[in-house]
Amino acid sequence: MEDINERARTKLGTGRVADYIPALAEQDANKFGIAICTNEGEVYAAGDAQEPFSIQSISKVFLLTLSLRVYGNELWERVGLNPSGMPFNSLTQLEAERGKPRNPFINAGAIVVADRLVSAFATPSKHLRDVARKLSGNESILIDARVQESEWQHRSRNAAMAYLMKSFGNIDNDVDQVLHSYFSCCSLAMSCVDLAVALNYLAADGHAQAMGEPFIAPDLARKINSIMFTCGMYDAAGDFAYRVGLPAKSGVGGGIVAIVPGKLSVCAWSPALDENGNSVAAQYALELLAEEMVRQQLGH
Ligand code: GLU
Repeated sequence: MEDINERARTKLGTGRVADYIPALAEQDANKFGIAICTNEGEVYAAGDAQEPFSIQSISKVFLLTLSLRVYGNELWERVGLNPSGMPFNSLTQLEAERGKPRNPFINAGAIVVADRLVSAFATPSKHLRDVARKLSGNESILIDARVQESEWQHRSRNAAMAYLMKSFGNIDNDVDQVLHSYFSCCSLAMSCVDLAVALNYLAADGHAQAMGEPFIAPDLARKINSIMFTCGMYDAAGDFAYRVGLPAKSGVGGGIVAIVPGKLSVCAWSPALDENGNSVAAQYALELLAEEMVRQQLGH
């Protein structure tokens, strides 16, 4: 971890911090952290791994998991399962495809999933926050109100998607209510350690490390990993699959969670992003980790 921390830091200074959500623009581009949680429950961390950051699109994994727990395969009537080949906030496909987003990891897809949760829970974002606390074993996890408000103030594009989908009958609830829920989930502040522990259920056949019990069925964990592999890294899912070869989900806060099924979960974070919206240093760190794991497996 220390070696990866040192080498990944050579990438600091490359890329740009997201600024389309003003509250995110204030992040310090010189931060880097990485944490691993093994399926045996050991946590290894380096750099700024304990520092909470805005999880942004990584919350789409929690949203999807909770929604699949409630609706099962019915969910796929509302949202597709294929890479979009378009930026995460694109509107063009939505019109052509009658309001059914390509997958749950682009904004439109996650907004549909958030709508499903608004139908299922009285306070979906609180529910999701509580689940994040239980899964990570960290009761102090919070929704960052400043980020949430900043997203709300700059919601035009996400609101446009939501209204377009509503016009096709693919949003059941009040659009503002759905957007509020979606933004509060994106605004959860968690550290690399929190996220590595919380999402370990995807590495451990659905078994939640910190809860000490099954969270989802093994089959569902496998399926979520597959969607992460094909759709988790915005437009660069193919590039990342080639470089790293692991199911992963990134967010514009600079975090990336990756899963080594059967072994471990890892989260790397650094705020500066490449042109696809993926953290430059975090991607590099995961590439180094993947290479190191192959070396160790081969006994070199
Ligand atoms: N809250 C962000 C948005 O809706 C999420 C973007 C992301 O991390 O991909 O624009």
